[in-house]
Amino acid sequence: MQSARKIDPHNGVQHDKTVSLLRLYQGLKRVYDLLDKARAELESVRGAPVCVEGCGLCCERRTPAASLLEASYLVSHPASNGSPGAMQHRAFAWLEAEDSRLTMCGLPRGIRLGGEDRARLGADVAVLTRSRCPFLLSEKTCAVYQHRPLACRAYSVTPAPDHWCRRPIAAMETNEIRAVIGRDTSLGISVQGATTALWRAAEGFGMAQYNKVGMLPALAAELLDSARYGRLLHSGVVADAKLALGIRLPDLFALPVREVVERSLGYRATPLGVNRVIGDMGVGEVR
Ligand code: SF4
Ligand code: SF4
Repeated sequence: MQSARKIDPHNGVQHDKTVSLLRLYQGLKRVYDLLDKARAELESVRGAPVCVEGCGLCCERRTPAASLLEASYLVSHPASNGSPGAMQHRAFAWLEAEDSRLTMCGLPRGIRLGGEDRARLGADVAVLTRSRCPFLLSEKTCAVYQHRPLACRAYSVTPAPDHWCRRPIAAMETNEIRAVIGRDTSLGISVQGATTALWRAAEGFGMAQYNKVGMLPALAAELLDSARYGRLLHSGVVADAKLALGIRLPDLFALPVREVVERSLGYRATPLGVNRVIGDMGVGEVR
């Protein structure tokens, strides 16, 4: 008679989590591929690239928020992201850097903030999101380009570029009116559908924590060296805004990620400019 195979319940759970995480990575890769496709389609409609080579201005002025899933996907590809050591160095340097513009530090974790504190924390998050991204290299390229998050891929493609973006203006466009992939285009619908399915899958796998959004460098630091991150967390020397976490990723076609983070923390972001969907993708005003 064949002996019954012993099953270690803990290993079983671990295996399930690994499989689930790999499936979530696949889903995330699909969303990334769709956004890359959207960019290619937009360039084809405009007849011009959506970016100036070697510009990097948005990365100089923005540090992205991202979900834990995106950060996890990013750090799980060290070879194409300049080694774990390089990523770690950049992430912790950002985390440990002092910034006199940030006003809140050392709040006890897990407390419910009052309105004034929420507003101050939101203002600090706004400062952070408007600071240089630590993954921008000196030659104005992205150290984690292949695995950069949704916010970076959607920038300049969905209705969220800043007015100072140096994107070349193509036919039918002005600085105020630029072509974007709209919510109602087939690509827009695909991106939204794939993104919604992804966050639902994380919940379905019991891994809803992967949907939580924070600042990308802080999430990467936590994943790359949790002990060092934990010491910093409890030291009370890291600005609270760097450690802010706790909302879902927003609809990429409605607002930039940073504004939803700011809004959730009580900060009122400046209104977006108006964009217009043009060319083959139909005409319609979107904000
Ligand atoms: S998206 Fe705009 S600001 Fe960013 S690198 Fe491209 S042209 Fe420059
Ligand atoms: S992760 Fe890369 S693409 Fe995104 S803001 Fe940073 S340097 Fe730019």
